Amino acid sequence: MKIRLDSARAEPFRWQESIDLRHAGLELGEDVEVSPVTVRGTLTWAAPNYVLQARFAYRQTVPCDRCLATVVSEVDLPVELLVERQRAVPEGAERELLEEELDAVEVAGDELDTWPLVAEQVQLNLPTHPLCREDCAGLCPTCGRDRNRGRCDCPEGAADARWAALATLRTKFDGRGSGRDES
Ligand SMILES: [Zn+2]
Ligand SMILES: [Zn+2]
Repeated sequence: MKIRLDSARAEPFRWQESIDLRHAGLELGEDVEVSPVTVRGTLTWAAPNYVLQARFAYRQTVPCDRCLATVVSEVDLPVELLVERQRAVPEGAERELLEEELDAVEVAGDELDTWPLVAEQVQLNLPTHPLCREDCAGLCPTCGRDRNRGRCDCPEGAADARWAALATLRTKFDGRGSGRDES
């Protein structure tokens, strides 16, 4: 939807909309899905700009960072943004104060296009390292077995990548230490 900024001048504009980001070919990443986003919010005139306050409700599906299992979560994302017209606005104390507190969105012209704004916020909110559970054991790097479902027969040391780097460091350190003792 496109919100005319002027429609918020007399009283706050009530923003209610459902946006299906999938239909617009948004690149969210491999195996990432987002349900239609239900938007409820207001656009309020706060001279010389506007403040957008809203909640975005949707269901997101992402792969677990360790075992690739599907992680589904219901998101209720609060959003608060300063909306500015793109032309130069006079510097003022109030503007500076608001800008310090809020992220800003620049609008070219008189209309706020809501689709790219919602898409960006949903994208920013995607977890970078989602886990199916805090103590997810992940996949065995040697045989690929899901360790949440049981152990495999791979050797312990070789199988655990998290400790491999540490073991290498320790070997180097020990080697240097013994070398010094010998000299
Ligand atoms: Zn997992
Ligand atoms: Zn294994």
